[in-house]
Amino acid sequence: MIKAKGASGEATSPAAIALRRSQFLLGAARARQFPADSGWEVAVAGRSNAGKSSAINVITGLRGLARISKTPGRTREINFFQIDEERRLVDLPGYGYARVPVAVREAWRRLIEDYFRGRQCLRGVIVVMDCRHPLTEFDQQMLQWCGHARLPVHLLLTKADKLSRGAAMAVLHQVRGQLSKVYKENEDATVQLFSALKRSGVAEAHEVLARWMEL
Ligand code: GDP
Repeated sequence: MIKAKGASGEATSPAAIALRRSQFLLGAARARQFPADSGWEVAVAGRSNAGKSSAINVITGLRGLARISKTPGRTREINFFQIDEERRLVDLPGYGYARVPVAVREAWRRLIEDYFRGRQCLRGVIVVMDCRHPLTEFDQQMLQWCGHARLPVHLLLTKADKLSRGAAMAVLHQVRGQLSKVYKENEDATVQLFSALKRSGVAEAHEVLARWMEL
C-alpha cells in the first residue's frame, strides 16, 4: 500500500483541505449498522489489489487512513470515513474474484446491494481499477449496479506509472468507450488516469469529490 507523503507541498484546494480532516467513523457488516442516511456520501470501490487503499490515502492526503479497512475483521465490512459532520467517504470491500468462495461472494453482494438500495445520501461512486487490467468482472458488476441506480460514476485508472504515456492514453479511451455504452453523454460518468506512486491525477479526483459533495 502506498502512503501519502507529509503535509509539505500538498494541494490546498478547499476539497484537499477538507479531505485531510477525514477520520474513521465505523465499519458495517450489515445494513442496520450503516450510519444515518443524511448529508453527502461518495463510495469508493475496487477489486482487491487494484490500488484502492493507496488511492484513498493519496486523495485524502492522510498517511495510512485506508489501512483501517485492511485490518483483520474489517476487510469484509463497509468502512465509513467522516470528512465533516455532513460528508462521508465510504470504502466498499473488494475481493479478488477468482478464488473467492461462493458464500463470501454472496455475502458481499448482499451487503453492497443493501448499501446501494435506497441510500439517499449517496452522490456518486468511484471505481478504482488497475489500468493494466481494467473492467474486470468485479468492475462490470459495480458499473451495472451504478447504472441501474443511475448513480454518477468516476473510474479511476490507477498505477498509470506502470504504462507508457501512449499505452495509458489508449486504456483511457478504451474504458471511456465502454462507459459510454452504460451511460449517456449527458450523464455524470467520467474516467481518469491516476498514480498513487507519482501522485498524479489527484487534483482531478478532488474536482470530482468537490462537485459531488459540494466541498
Ligand atoms: P487495494 O487492495 O486495492 O487497497 O490495493 P493497495 O492500495 O493495497 O495496492 C496494491 C498494491 O499495488 C500495493 O503493492 C501498492 O503498493 C501497489 N500500488 C497501488 N497504487 C499504485 C500506483 O499508483 N503505482 C504503483 N506502481 N503501484 C501501486
